[in-house]
Amino acid sequence: MNKVISKFIDTHSLSVEEYESLLNNIQEDEKEVLKKEAVSLATSVYGKKIFARGLIEFSNYCKNNCYYCGIRNGNKNCERYRLTKEQIFECCDLGYEFGYRTFVLQSGEDLYFNDDVMVEIISHIRKKFPDCAITISIGEKEKSTYQKYFDAGANRYLLRHETANKELYEKIHPKEMSFEHRMKCLQDLRDIGFQVGAGYMVECPYQTNHDLALDLKFIEEFKPEMCGIGPFIPHKDTDYRNEKAGTLEKTLLLLSITRIILPRVLLPATTALGTIHPLGREMGVQHGANVVMPNLSPTEVRSKYLLYDNKICTGDEAAECRNCMSARMSRIGYELVIDRGDFKKL
Ligand code: SAH
Repeated sequence: MNKVISKFIDTHSLSVEEYESLLNNIQEDEKEVLKKEAVSLATSVYGKKIFARGLIEFSNYCKNNCYYCGIRNGNKNCERYRLTKEQIFECCDLGYEFGYRTFVLQSGEDLYFNDDVMVEIISHIRKKFPDCAITISIGEKEKSTYQKYFDAGANRYLLRHETANKELYEKIHPKEMSFEHRMKCLQDLRDIGFQVGAGYMVECPYQTNHDLALDLKFIEEFKPEMCGIGPFIPHKDTDYRNEKAGTLEKTLLLLSITRIILPRVLLPATTALGTIHPLGREMGVQHGANVVMPNLSPTEVRSKYLLYDNKICTGDEAAECRNCMSARMSRIGYELVIDRGDFKKL
């Protein structure tokens, strides 16, 4: 076996140059070795258990204009919606009945949901479901705002870093957005005490193996509790409409590598992975993922939260998604559990 791979399996760490060389030179049989190692690590920490997060996509209004994203502000074809507080609470009620013990509140950067509104929503859910984790994923805010969410009872925050290369970050985002600010947000969230989720897209426009190597090094050093990794998928109303989607193969490889870097990380088999292949999420788990995020949003708004084309499950009821996911996991020998599924500290 290639020396870099043996070193990686032994030490769970490589230099940026070595990560890049691993990605450039890996052979099929070596991918199999990494896959086995990743699954064995995931199983030794979390068993054959998969944690489910009920995802509530509560608004697709967004002030940002990330060039790859279907709900970016500049997309005039996007039909906007915003759930009411009551609708959000109903999603949680339903989700609790279905066995979810983590709710993920995700949206575009919608200024309607200011600090007071968010604090009211978080406090209500915290009071009603003391045994559940609350995850927020609504983008970049001031540290004082993050602190208010935390004090109101939120436990986790997902904010993908998107890319650890400043130059690439600046290529795929408009000039109003800054790499430094995104990174500062991740640090603020960590300092406040959130379980923090970083993450990146695989094979987004302009991305090279060097960029991915920087992502891997960043993950190794920042040590997020969660890491969202999914293939880039073009959206018809963006300038990247004719770009190729990220591949299944590359995404699965990066999931395995990420699991080996951080054996305890909470690693979702993402909806984007399920979108590029009908068994993408199952394969994600078989490469080291241990989290899935079925959709809990009301059916009538599902088809409007479209970050990329051909998103799956947009016509399903929340109950169907829950049952479908349970069946998918049990078919591959895993159990979807009723559990908060917190990060397991050493
Ligand atoms: N506004 C929130 C939530 C963003 S949507 C935030 O800023 O964190 C969640 C993630 O979807 C993004 O972080 C991005 O990595 C991913 N995403 C957006 N457009 C995508 C596309 N075209 N293909 C694949 N993933 C995409």
